[in-house]
Amino acid sequence: MADEKAKQAEKKELRKAKKDCYKLEGETLSRIKKHCPKCGPGVFMAEHKDRTSCGKCGYTEFVKGR
Ligand SMILES: [Zn+2]
Repeated sequence: MADEKAKQAEKKELRKAKKDCYKLEGETLSRIKKHCPKCGPGVFMAEHKDRTSCGKCGYTEFVKGR
């Protein structure tokens, strides 16, 4: 049953990651991560080294520069 435990730990980490998408500044809750332009606010883009991508619709945006 070790797999079951690993799955639960994974879920917890995901929830924590979602929380990290927001930053509380005073009384204003601001989003510090990009959200998907197709899915709208609430669906955050996964950050990669050279691109950001949406896990829901697959939208990918390449990071330019550097
Ligand atoms: Zn999307």
